[in-house]
Amino acid sequence: MKIAVYPGSFDPPTNGHIDIISRAAKLFDKVIIAITDNPEKKSEFSLEERKRMLTESIKKFKNVHIDTFNGLLVDYMKKLNANIIIRGLRAVSDFEYEFQLALMNRRLNNKIETVFLIPDESYTYLSSSIVKEIAALGGEIKGLVPESVIERLKKK
Ligand code: ADP
Repeated sequence: MKIAVYPGSFDPPTNGHIDIISRAAKLFDKVIIAITDNPEKKSEFSLEERKRMLTESIKKFKNVHIDTFNGLLVDYMKKLNANIIIRGLRAVSDFEYEFQLALMNRRLNNKIETVFLIPDESYTYLSSSIVKEIAALGGEIKGLVPESVIERLKKK
């Protein structure tokens, strides 16, 4: 069984994340969305809140599961017996960071492969941080994030 792990901070999940999830769900037997805190970013939503928002948005994908983890991704994956990492690539600007991350993960465990998926072009400019910025300034976020995120983001 091919198990793929899609790690990220998902703070909050956007329609770009959902697009990547739907593509991964078609390629692999099982996809595990693994939510974690990125030490380089201060999180707006707790891990539990992010998990709840994602759970509501991915109900239609029967082979997609959600989990949270702390610590090294490679250690978490070992426990699951998974060796495929999914990451999304929006633009060239993502490349350098993703390239470094993929090679470091491979160095930590050389059985691990990172698979990059490209979202629909309408999501290539979308990020959790820009969505938070727009919401904070009172802008319209419908169409950018799943329904389950809209109200929660407005409340923040
Ligand atoms: P991280 O803090 O690990 O970068 P993110 O939630 O920001 O977590 O992103 C998780 C993954 O999803 C990354 O590979 C990122 O490039 C990808 N991603 C984020 N937004 C989009 C989007 N709009 N379209 C495609 N991939 C995306």
